[in-house]
Amino acid sequence: MIAYIRSHLGAKLFISYLAIILIALVVLGWGSQAALPSSFERHMLRMMAPANMMPAGDAPHMFGWQYRENLEFRTQLFRDYRAGFNDALRIAGLAALGTAVVLSFIVSRGVTSQVQAMSAAAGRIATGRYTERVHVAGTDELSGLASRFNEMAGKLEEVEAMRRRLIADVSHELRTPLTAIQGSVEGLIDGVLPASNETYAQIHAETKRLGRLVEDLQELSRVEAPSFAIEKQSLAPAALVKTVIKRMSGPAASRGVKLEWEAPAELPEILGDQDRLLQALSNLVNNAIQYTPEGGLVSVAAHSSNGDLQISVRDTGLGISAEHLPHIFDRFYRIDKSRSRQESGGSGIGLTIARAIVEAHGGRIWAESPGPGKGSTFFIALPIAS
Ligand code: ADP
Repeated sequence: MIAYIRSHLGAKLFISYLAIILIALVVLGWGSQAALPSSFERHMLRMMAPANMMPAGDAPHMFGWQYRENLEFRTQLFRDYRAGFNDALRIAGLAALGTAVVLSFIVSRGVTSQVQAMSAAAGRIATGRYTERVHVAGTDELSGLASRFNEMAGKLEEVEAMRRRLIADVSHELRTPLTAIQGSVEGLIDGVLPASNETYAQIHAETKRLGRLVEDLQELSRVEAPSFAIEKQSLAPAALVKTVIKRMSGPAASRGVKLEWEAPAELPEILGDQDRLLQALSNLVNNAIQYTPEGGLVSVAAHSSNGDLQISVRDTGLGISAEHLPHIFDRFYRIDKSRSRQESGGSGIGLTIARAIVEAHGGRIWAESPGPGKGSTFFIALPIAS
């Protein structure tokens, strides 16, 4: 019995309600018994007040005399009074106890049924059924807990879907270069492919692509980890832009793309991690160079806007259609999958890493494009150091 009560919230609630009702009844009984003699005395005195007495010789007069002089008569009268009062108290007490028991049973059932529903749903979620939700009725704290529970279940469902997508994406990304390497090596073994420098160079290029993908994935897991820490220091935006331009002028020249920049020296400083911000910016400029045909132009500019420092990377390249714009920061998202893999070996992770870095600085990153063939502009907005 005790073990049952200990392990059931409903039983605990019911017993606690019952204990309160019993204590209330005991206090009521004890208090009324203590107050009974004085209330009886008051009642009798009022009855025998001269104003309420009949002339001498009448029966009521006799009653008053009896009450004052005859102790036995007085005691009997008190006993009758108390018995009548106790009868009334017992009936009222039983009626109150019955009502309270029924009500406390209903209330404790109401509380425990919601808790039990959440516990059952949590159990099903623990076995992998992430679509589980509980019914939310009312606006009290338990209903609040139920809606928080549903929110948590929704987040778990999202995370699980993301995890599955990630595994599918990673295995797909790894399979492509692996299949190419496997095909070349089998061709070499069977003698179908010549053991030439060209074949080895092809295998080498695929292994490099594989290595780059693994590096990107490691970098992504680093910047997306909750423990990802940035070392903030005061940075001059102009110096940041100049460093990126210096780094990227080689690749731009080799692709025949003109690189321009504009960053006034008097721009306010920002607080940030120099290496990480250079990494994010380099990724944007590198993409702009990659996706701009020979003879095109890439321009990097910095200016302050609405209390932020805004850096833009504009290109006259392939552009991005409106349907792709909301997705290009998603991991593994590539607009033209075959082209980017063959030409740049891009894995579709660079922009995801850039976004994680910018957001770790409390900033925003986004892209705009008038459409395919009309170039695109990538923006980074970072809070200005106060
Ligand atoms: P990737 O390594 O494939 O370049 P990113 O995450 O850097 O991966 O970019 C994701 C996709 O966004 C690219 O594959 C490309 O389709 C598109 N993209 C990025 N930058 C540009 C740009 N400047 N112009 C056109 N498309 C771009």
